[in-house]
Amino acid sequence: MVKRYGDFTAVDDVSLRVEAGDFFGFLGPNGAGKTTTISAIVGLARITSGSIEVFGYDNVTQWREARRFIGLAPQEYNFDRYLSIRDVLIFQAGYYGLAPRLVRERADELLEQFGLQRHAKLEYTKLSGGMKRRLTLARALVHDPKILILDEPTAGVDVELRLELWALLRRLNAEGMTIFLTTHYLEEAEALCRNIGIIRAGRLVALEPTRDLLARAGRGLQDIFLELTRA
Ligand code: ATP
Repeated sequence: MVKRYGDFTAVDDVSLRVEAGDFFGFLGPNGAGKTTTISAIVGLARITSGSIEVFGYDNVTQWREARRFIGLAPQEYNFDRYLSIRDVLIFQAGYYGLAPRLVRERADELLEQFGLQRHAKLEYTKLSGGMKRRLTLARALVHDPKILILDEPTAGVDVELRLELWALLRRLNAEGMTIFLTTHYLEEAEALCRNIGIIRAGRLVALEPTRDLLARAGRGLQDIFLELTRA
């Protein structure tokens, strides 16, 4: 894919394939093009050229099918601040055409699963940071997607919550969920991801199994990351 904003090329001929069931890490310095790539995959940004397929469906010509498979946990909280968190989940499920009764069941199931049931009636602004992160994940999973795309899910969270989120993501992946993760925490990518892509100034500079990247990394992922991404 290529994505240009005016005459600036944010993503420059990036070609990659994430296998079903993979835990894929998409790394790169600030401004490298990660969020732009994610926006293109999920259909929030229109690519300038190229194509994107999600489980075999073209995400432009077959957007309805493609989007059905994707759960997105965005970087920023974008919940409706006047809704209870239960209604946040119910609204989200509504976008995917689930029957009203099923929608409510699904919302309650997710609240339970993410330990949020007790706060179901609160607006998201009244939750702690950790709960907001969990709500982001619950909302991404409401329509039972096949790939979960996470844009820096652990930015600014404390150690305990980070470990909790890691365990959650590992469990989802073990249950078959494909995961596409961006993070600035290289130890996170090292701990979780089976394969890693590194982007620098819009161009892919590495795409390989984490283990291979580490094998040529010397003293850890940070060394090879800096070597590949420094101007
Ligand atoms: P970060 O790690 O800081 O979140 P990123 O890798 O996600 O960075 P992007 O947000 O994809 O980077 O941005 C890539 C480049 O595209 C940046 O130079 C950014 O300024 C530019 N860019 C992003 N969105 C727009 C837009 N709507 N119009 C113009 N330029 C944009």
